[in-house]
Amino acid sequence: MIHMRNARRALLVLTVAVLALPVLAAAQPPVREITRLAGEVYRFRNNLHYSVFAVTPAGIIVTDPINAEAAEWLRAELARRFNVPIRYLIYSHDHADHITGGQVFADAGAVVVAHENARTQIVEERRPTAVPAITFTDRMTIELGGTVVELAYVGRNHSDDSIVMRFPRERLLFAVDFIPVETVGFRDFPTSWIEDWIESLKRVEQMDFDVLVPGHGKVGSREHVRVFRDYLEDLRGQVLRYAREGRSLEEIKALVDGSKYAGWASFKDWFPLNVEGMYRQVQQHRRGN
Ligand SMILES: [Zn+2]
Repeated sequence: MIHMRNARRALLVLTVAVLALPVLAAAQPPVREITRLAGEVYRFRNNLHYSVFAVTPAGIIVTDPINAEAAEWLRAELARRFNVPIRYLIYSHDHADHITGGQVFADAGAVVVAHENARTQIVEERRPTAVPAITFTDRMTIELGGTVVELAYVGRNHSDDSIVMRFPRERLLFAVDFIPVETVGFRDFPTSWIEDWIESLKRVEQMDFDVLVPGHGKVGSREHVRVFRDYLEDLRGQVLRYAREGRSLEEIKALVDGSKYAGWASFKDWFPLNVEGMYRQVQQHRRGN
């Protein structure tokens, strides 16, 4: 009887292993696509990551390469579709999951542009990408073949080197990882400055554009900047109040009301982590009795 049970269990384990095999064997090919946003500005997707590029008669401005394979795919697509040189590569911030593989475009002749702080991180963390040749601290405008893109530093937020890229004619703004559209913040807000982040969002709210293009998830509108700032301020307010009441992190996680955001992307996975990250930041910046 005991032998039978063991035999059956062994068979069950074997079945599960066999069923799992085809899933493991068939590695998902990356989802890559190009969609037109406005005028000659396009959005490039590689799985969960997105960047934008602008095509002009004088050449192409690309942004985050994402990784070397994605960049190689995009470079080939741009050559096939447009047949003009890639002239500029602009990094949104220094994080490797967005800017790896920049040498693909740099080797093709693109001038690499980023915030000054991003250059420092890229060099010191030895990011696997091309080091920026041109950097700026506050503002920079690139004009190519009649297309204008304004680069602006709006302060620290998800990193200390995030920039926004505004295309005034197309009335759109590309911003990565610090203005998600109806999506909660990434995990527990690693590498972030929450107070500065809120201020940086206020600066973006003053800018003139209609369409907000994030580095992950769906495209939104200028209004989504305020929506995300409201989220950060709401979360900060709730966490601070409970922290001042002397509640523990576990209690605060149970008490914070996030029901308004339950329909947002990544809510289930990351909202509890957002509370943790906010608690950490709040505790760093307050002094209890
Ligand atoms: Zn990032």
